[in-house]
This record gives sequence, structure tokens and C-alpha cells, in this order.
Amino acid sequence: MKKEFKNIAILGAGESGVGAALLAKAKGIPCFVSDKGSIKSSYKQELEENQIEFEEGSHDEERILAADLIIKSPGIPEKVALIQSALAKGIPVISEIEFAGYYTNKKMICITGSNGKTTTTMWIHHILKKGELKAELAGNIGESLARQVIEDKAEIYVCELSSFQLDGMYDFKADIAILMNITPDHLDRYNYEMQNYVDSKFRIVQNMTEKDWFIYNADDPIIVEELKKRDIKAKLAPFSIEQTEGMAGYVNNNHININVPFKANAEEGLKPEFTMSIHDLSLKGKHNAQNSLASGITSKILEIRKETIRESLSDFKNVEHRLEFVAKVNGIEFVNDSKATNVNSTWYALESMSKPTIWILGGVDKGNDYDSLIPLVKDKVKAIVCLGKDNKKIIDAFSGHVDVIAEAQSALEAVALSYRLAKKEETVLLSPACASFDLFESYEDRGTQFKSAVRAL
Ligand code: ADP
Repeated sequence: MKKEFKNIAILGAGESGVGAALLAKAKGIPCFVSDKGSIKSSYKQELEENQIEFEEGSHDEERILAADLIIKSPGIPEKVALIQSALAKGIPVISEIEFAGYYTNKKMICITGSNGKTTTTMWIHHILKKGELKAELAGNIGESLARQVIEDKAEIYVCELSSFQLDGMYDFKADIAILMNITPDHLDRYNYEMQNYVDSKFRIVQNMTEKDWFIYNADDPIIVEELKKRDIKAKLAPFSIEQTEGMAGYVNNNHININVPFKANAEEGLKPEFTMSIHDLSLKGKHNAQNSLASGITSKILEIRKETIRESLSDFKNVEHRLEFVAKVNGIEFVNDSKATNVNSTWYALESMSKPTIWILGGVDKGNDYDSLIPLVKDKVKAIVCLGKDNKKIIDAFSGHVDVIAEAQSALEAVALSYRLAKKEETVLLSPACASFDLFESYEDRGTQFKSAVRAL
């Protein structure tokens, strides 16, 4: 869908902002990039080389509000004054993905959810690549979609979309949309109203037609409730690890099964089109069974050969910081799940633990309710090591449910303490359920420091 713009302002000069600027330039549209913080030198160089004007350290409001389109980085909340002024003036404010969508007709597979986005996106991409499709990653991963559609060489894009990106999407349409789950997260950006966050996630299905597919987790009560209220045009492909009837993908007798199109299901005694033992999946745990179902359904829709799907589901390597095995030291296994920045992702990590666990958690609390973790803690956790500046809430939530609760102020200290508390055949799990910004630069920094501390033992 071609739209005419004369003057675009781009807020935020990260990968998405710079990609959008390069795309605007390639389409001959004047644009101006503004970042309130500092811009990475490699991006500055790229903007200079392409003769794209930019500023850093502040926003030139007058110039920005003279634009006829604003492309906003997903990191900038809508409530900031500048965006409010733009909206009041009637200037459309969109995300880089929406903008990129104006300039490509290639197939889009879009993945969202509170957890499991990156793993599922990469898993699908891995299968499609093995199936010899020209598939490229986009969205939150790797090169921005806008940058890639300049040459538009891909046959198909596999896009990880956060709710913040979805908020700036209006005309964009996915050919296959995947919704992994919806659990409370980022509520500070949604006026602490869960429904606003749910609505944001459901933007993934907007503009879809009968030709498109909506793959969703039928075990998620919030998704199921929301579906009752909506009339979704796309073909529905639900998956489940708890039910089989009517499912496009399900788990039965320790096998994942995929039926697309799912005229029949296991109940009718008909064989699913694709079946594989969960023991052969390369990633373990219930959450990864869900991720593999979503990936498998997508691949069947795209008519990837069964043998290719089977192979790719069994040889996919996990992404760093997601239940990543680090090392075994004196019989003690260390697992890095630093990306678990909310309670739900940590629930799945604890659930997948098969040995007594020393659990490291803590950081910046996002309004966490730890109650759902208590049964797992009682069952699996031997000791807790808090890794945060303020650990009071964690101590209050779990004291009485676990024998030992210790506190650490660095990854090094947390690893040393856990190593002392653990015995042979036990696991030390970093799965913080919190953001990392009190003690670390990012969750990657937290995971990397954890891994180096383990490797130094
Ligand atoms: P996202 O991109 O949505 O943040 P990731 O794939 O990076 O998701 O995983 C984030 C965290 O959630 C990790 O700790 C991971 O082990 C866990 N996780 C992965 N898939 C799921 C899922 N389907 N449901 C719940 N938690 C998951």
C-alpha cells in the first residue's frame, strides 16, 4: 500500500529508527531523525553517509511537529508530551514495522505474546531456512524490517512483535499471526489496565482475511476469553498441551501432533498429519512444547516437508539467556535464564527443573505477584538467593516456604553463594522474574556476568 509523505520525523535512532530513515531516503522522502539520548556511533555514521539529517540529546519540537508522519521507536511511551502534541495536531504516529509494511507485499509471519516470542520466532525461521525458503528475521531481532524492505529480497519475513510495536500498527497485515500467551507485563505502559495490554496484543490479527491464519494458545484463559468477544476473519489454528479436540496442534502420549488443515483430530481415531516424540524436541519444558507446536503449525501451513520439520524441531539451538545450560561444576548444573523478566516465564523455568534447585531471582519488580510460584518453590527449590538491590518483597513472599534465603549484590556473589549451598546432582538456576536495571545494564549483561562467574568457579 503506497502512501504519500512529504516530510517524516523519526523519533529514536536505534535499529528501527535508522532502518526507517534509510527506507524513507530510498523512497525519496525527506526525513529528520531525532533522539533524546545519544546515538550509537555506527548509526550516526550511517545517517551521515546517507545524508540524513539528525539530532541527538534533545528533540527539536517545532521541526518534529511540522512533519506529516512521525515514526516512533517502540521504547517511547505514547503519553510523553511530544507525542501527545503530535496526536493533538492530527499527525499520524506509527511504528517502523507499519512504515515498512507500506513498501512490501512479501508474506509476513508475526509472533507476539508475553513470553516465548524470540524462541518461537527463531525456531520458525530455523525451520523455514531448512525448508529452503528465503526467510528473514525482523521485528525485535536482527536487522529492522524497514532496512530489509529497501531491497526486499526475502520471500517471507518472520517478525517478532512486542506490544509496543503493535501499538503503532494500523494498516499492517500478517499472513500468519501467532499469539503465544498473555500474562501481565509492562502494565506501567498501559495505565495499569490489563484490558489495554490485551487489546494491544490482539492488534496482531487486525486486517486479516479468510485467507490468513491465526495460531494461538488455547490453554491461555485470557486469550480464550478475549476470543469470545471478537469476530476474527482469519482461519483459526489453536494449539494446546492440555486438550486435543479441535486443536491444530496438541500433545498426546508424550508426542506433539499437528493437523493442518485440521479436519480431523485424535478423538476421531484419525492420524494427525505430523507427530513426533517430545523427547526428540531439542528444547525441553512445557513452554517449549508450546513453542514447538506454534512453530510446527506454521511450517505445515507453509507446506514445509515433514522430514524437514522433524529435523528442525530436534536440532534447533536455544537462544542465549533462555534456560541456557552453562556448565556442570563438581556435578552441579548451572542454568542461565536471565531473560525471564516476569513471573510467568520463571514459572515455566521452575516447572522444568527436575533436580533440587538453588534459585537466584530478583531485580526490579514490575508489580510481581509471586503466589503462583509458591507450589513450585515448595516442591523444587532448596534455597533462594536474592540478586537485587531491594529484596524485601521476595523475602516476604517466600520465607516459610523454603529453608534458606540469602542475599547477593552481584552476579559473582550470587554464584559463589549458590555454589556453596548446592550439592552434587543439584541445579543452580538464574531465573530472576524481574528486570535487571538495578544492578545490571540489561538482562544480557546479567546473564553474561552470571556465566562468567560460573566459568570462573
Ligand atoms: P520473549 O521474546 O517473549 O521475551 P523468549 O523466547 O525470549 O520470549 O523467552 C523469555 C523467557 O520466557 C525465557 O525465560 C524463556 O525460558 C521463557 N519462555 C519461553 N517460551 C515461553 C512460553 N511459551 N511461555 C512461557 N515462558 C516462555
